[in-house]
Amino acid sequence: MNMNVMNAPASPPVQDPLDKLFDTMFRPMNAQGVYARTGAYESVVEGLAALISSRREDETEIFRFPPVMSRADLERHGYLKSFPNLIGCVACLEGSEAEIRAAADRHGQGGDWTTSLEPADLVLTPASCYPVYPIAAERGPVPERGYRFDVACDCFRREPSAHLDRLQSFRMREYVRVGTPEQVAAFRESWIVRAKEIADELGLPYTVEQASDPFFGRLGQIMAFSQLEQSLKFELLIPLRGAAAGTACMSFNYHREHFGTTWGLHLADGEPAHTGCVAFGMDRLAVALFATHGATIAGWPPSVRAALRL
Ligand code: 5GP
Ligand code: ZN
Repeated sequence: MNMNVMNAPASPPVQDPLDKLFDTMFRPMNAQGVYARTGAYESVVEGLAALISSRREDETEIFRFPPVMSRADLERHGYLKSFPNLIGCVACLEGSEAEIRAAADRHGQGGDWTTSLEPADLVLTPASCYPVYPIAAERGPVPERGYRFDVACDCFRREPSAHLDRLQSFRMREYVRVGTPEQVAAFRESWIVRAKEIADELGLPYTVEQASDPFFGRLGQIMAFSQLEQSLKFELLIPLRGAAAGTACMSFNYHREHFGTTWGLHLADGEPAHTGCVAFGMDRLAVALFATHGATIAGWPPSVRAALRL
């Protein structure tokens, strides 16, 4: 028998090209798409955050949100219609000390403590701009110059995946515009230009393409079609796996009057305000930088390191 043939692996293990970067960027935390971040990776995220901040427009208000938000607010946003499959809801043990003890002790006896969980009034925030619309609406009519916000938070979407560019827990930074349709259109156009400049500065290859959100179910397909038809979403895609389709690392969204109507966010003339946002996927951009320039930051092009102050 030919030993060489016998010892040869049946077929190479199927591996994602990004996997070789895992140790540089992450450590496992016993859950798919939930990773500890290394110092090297975090230094890139910090550099990205500073670069994005340096492009902030004048008269922009800053908010940083917690990773949880009101469940009632998410319901009001219409999230249950659009993305019920992605929701992460906080659940807690409620009740008397004896009830909580009994539930928790079931675990020690090999039982299931989670059957006693009660849904809380909190969900995990799925997009960093959601909490800003009710804050703006509280103030009464939107001033003539509109609003500009700079927001960020840790976001959660229930999409377990082995791919390092699809996390369940990831960071999103956004610039948000509230105002007239013209103000929002101008904002989005100018941010597509600026985002391309940022990608150029970072030495990242990209395309900007029309896109739709992954709305849930059959009704969702109709919503996605209508979104495409109205050109409501564009994405900046970066190829992370050679010639394969790129990964969306930034998105440019026009919500029309959706949030204005939902939150009673009105212009001075009583018309619902229009809104739009540009979202930066901080984790995807960091992964894209490692995938493009390699595992060793010291070997990245000097211009990229200078842009990130690394
Ligand atoms: P959107 O609200 O357009 O779906 O998401 C905004 C941005 O967040 C995306 O362009 C992307 O950069 C980032 N993002 C969305 N989903 C994921 C994900 O599963 N993992 C990571 N790392 N980033 C994501
Ligand atoms: Zn947004």
